[in-house]
Amino acid sequence: MHGEVLSTEALTPHLVRVVLGGPGLDGFAEPGGADSYVNAFFLPPGAGYTAPFDDAEVRELPWERRPFPRRITVRAWDAATRRLTLDIVTHGDVGYAGRWALHARPGDTLQFRGPAGAWSPDPDADWHLLVGDASALPAIAGAAERVPAGVRVVAVIEVAGPAEELALDSPGDLAVTWVHTGTPYDADQLARTVAGLDLPAGRCCAFVHGEAEATRVVRRHLLSTGIVAREDLSCSPYWRHPDTDEEWRAVKAAWTRQLENDVD
Ligand SMILES: Cc1cc2nc3c(=O)[nH]c(=O)nc-3n(C[C@H](O)[C@H](O)[C@H](O)COP(=O)(O)OP(=O)(O)OC[C@H]3O[C@@H](n4cnc5c(N)ncnc54)[C@H](O)[C@@H]3O)c2cc1C
Repeated sequence: MHGEVLSTEALTPHLVRVVLGGPGLDGFAEPGGADSYVNAFFLPPGAGYTAPFDDAEVRELPWERRPFPRRITVRAWDAATRRLTLDIVTHGDVGYAGRWALHARPGDTLQFRGPAGAWSPDPDADWHLLVGDASALPAIAGAAERVPAGVRVVAVIEVAGPAEELALDSPGDLAVTWVHTGTPYDADQLARTVAGLDLPAGRCCAFVHGEAEATRVVRRHLLSTGIVAREDLSCSPYWRHPDTDEEWRAVKAAWTRQLENDVD
């Protein structure tokens, strides 16, 4: 499956909205939840081909010319107009997804598989906690839009600075606390911020996605304090500072197994 770039928009200095369309999206399945994502294939500079390409053929190429897979959340899918919206973080002229988004222009193409992933906020929860960084902002924004009217929603979101803060819409009673990334990177910052908030009582449905070490500390805090029950927590390490996605995926399974030792 592939889409053609119809438009790009800088939502913030480091977040680019890319809207895809075209006949290559025929058959795109309705995304199952707020965190549904596509596995997109970004081409390295000098690849010598463009999407759509044949999977089997590109597997024969030298590694440095193959497509680099990156997971990107479906920010929106409009089945009537067949428009797929992705919000992609740019973090310097590095990497494959971020760099592609930085330079994407109408007419460019992007090949992908999916969508997969089907988490959405539990409509029966007493309140919702949404925690993450800019990479999880598309899913957090989608989750905030899907809560029942009037229910409390507490969001704690880490972004590079004040210019990266984005207005979020919600039918719920939404309060967002923004956290700004410091130098050196501090993986405890999100958890410290959550710990300092006066949180609602009752059953919490929590979504904690983003940088791996930061999600780990938040997870430990939420479970060890009993703020959230395990079955009400969706936690996913999207990327790990300062690794590339290839470096992170090489150790992700072992890292995830260790999580079980974090909390009794
Ligand atoms: C299910 C899922 C959904 C995701 N949804 C989105 C999404 O909607 N939008 C989105 O932008 N990302 C999303 N991500 C995260 C994204 O896949 C990773 O951040 C990926 O590493 C970015 O690839 P890249 O090619 O730009 O950089 P890489 O080649 O992986 O990394 C290059 C350098 O940039 C650093 N880096 C990578 N990501 C970030 C970042 N977010 N902020 C700062 N530095 C970074 C790396 O540590 C490395 O030093 C999602 C991940 C998962 C697993």
